[in-house]
Amino acid sequence: MTESRAAPSPTDADARYRRRGMWLDLLDEPLSPRPALPGPAAVDVVIVGAGYTGLWTAYYLAQADPHLRIAVLENEIAGFGASGRNAGWVSPWFPASLETIARARGRDKAVAMQRAMFDTVDEVGRVAAAEGIEARYRKGGVLTLATAPEQLARVRKEPEHYRCWGVGSDEIMWIDPAAVRERIVVAGCLGASYLTHCACIDPARLVRGLARVVEKLGAKVYERTPVLSIENGRAVTATGDVRAGVVVRATEGFTRELPGARRELVPVYSLAIATEPLPASFWSEVGWSGYETFTDGRHLYVCAMRTDDDRIVIGGRGAPYHFGSKVRAAYEQVPRVHAAQEAALKHLFPAARGVKVTHRWGGALGVPRDWFPSVGYDRARGYAWAGGYVGDGVAASNLAGRTLADLISGRESPLTALPWVDHRSRAWEPEPLRWIGVRGSLAVFASADRKERRTGKPARRAELMHRVLPL
Ligand SMILES: Cc1cc2nc3c(=O)[nH]c(=O)nc-3n(C[C@H](O)[C@H](O)[C@H](O)COP(=O)(O)OP(=O)(O)OC[C@H]3O[C@@H](n4cnc5c(N)ncnc54)[C@H](O)[C@@H]3O)c2cc1C
Repeated sequence: MTESRAAPSPTDADARYRRRGMWLDLLDEPLSPRPALPGPAAVDVVIVGAGYTGLWTAYYLAQADPHLRIAVLENEIAGFGASGRNAGWVSPWFPASLETIARARGRDKAVAMQRAMFDTVDEVGRVAAAEGIEARYRKGGVLTLATAPEQLARVRKEPEHYRCWGVGSDEIMWIDPAAVRERIVVAGCLGASYLTHCACIDPARLVRGLARVVEKLGAKVYERTPVLSIENGRAVTATGDVRAGVVVRATEGFTRELPGARRELVPVYSLAIATEPLPASFWSEVGWSGYETFTDGRHLYVCAMRTDDDRIVIGGRGAPYHFGSKVRAAYEQVPRVHAAQEAALKHLFPAARGVKVTHRWGGALGVPRDWFPSVGYDRARGYAWAGGYVGDGVAASNLAGRTLADLISGRESPLTALPWVDHRSRAWEPEPLRWIGVRGSLAVFASADRKERRTGKPARRAELMHRVLPL
């Protein structure tokens, strides 16, 4: 595993976990690990990883069958991974394009996948409210802003494109600059595509609350319990094996550390910053009372949200891929990218010029070779998995959890017929080809943004690249 195994004191652990990002830092609960797995055990389902994927799976399984014996094994603490430190969007987007899904599985399946993602945005809010999880869920929709002339054509096409896939004009629409300003004042905005299906949350509150809920439902959550390998019918740990009818792999950006899974998902780092809470004077200038999430039309875009305590969080692309798919705490700090996010903040909101950025963080997310997430269950091997969400996993992991619960329980449902079920991506290339490919695609997007700024025209090479590698 990537972190030192020496048992830290509860206070050391608390400080170490809080340093991993603003959301963990601001939690008003101690971050002391739950007890580790005490020794060998036997259960019905063992889940490896206590992020959203693992915990949503435990939640829906326990809901469906309260007698099921479920154990969740977590290397650090619940929410240590991307689930505790993302950019807070309950994103309605599926990383593979609708065209890609339709080519692989037909138009109806593509439409069903998009609809399931839209519904999932509501499902996350519904469960949080029903279970009393204070996830600070607010559904304000998402704005894709054109902030430069070269982005305008691309953004303008978005509503029309979605309409071809059955998305209604009451769900997605073009809004002109004056109408955008009624929602949010962003410098240089030339208009936006607005989609109603998106929400924002406090990610750490959601994942930590979910862990408590699954415990209440009877599942056991063991923390600081690294799984060394997954074998037929068992998860192997240093303190003993957990034998189970089903083993679920929910390790996303950390998957490459499991023997046999090294080339399944590449860990790519996503980074974010957050400001101090901003004063009423800022908000009276900027508006943003609808808590819309927003992104801009660049290839290496930034994404933003307003938090419940009046901060702005900006996340985005641009962190380097590391040779050998290594995962290291040091990779979470990339001053060049954090500085670019801060510059974007100040460019988009001139009123934020004197504002302090209080947190800079990052984390690894999982990317499959074809950028097509998957969820599946091999009944013969008793092995299930989900992940590869390419940075859009907050809603997708809920859909994955519900789908895994149906698959494992042997229930056929509209979810088990979705096109990502049992999808197999091919393995990533061995190094150095993998490094060249991932770094190369990031470089194409960065240079496309520079070229578009210079020429004022869309960069065709990057447009094509998005179809091949929709990073
Ligand atoms: C900075 C950042 C911003 C993001 N922003 C957004 C966003 O705004 N919207 C969105 O939709 N998505 C976003 N994402 C992606 C999203 O957070 C993830 O897709 C999602 O959280 C994945 O959940 P998960 O449970 O599959 O993985 P994780 O949350 O990474 O959980 C995996 C867990 O498994 C544990 N683990 C790994 N290996 C082992 C092992 N061998 N034994 C035991 N435990 C193990 C890890 O410690 C971890 O806790 C972002 C990601 C990052 C990093």
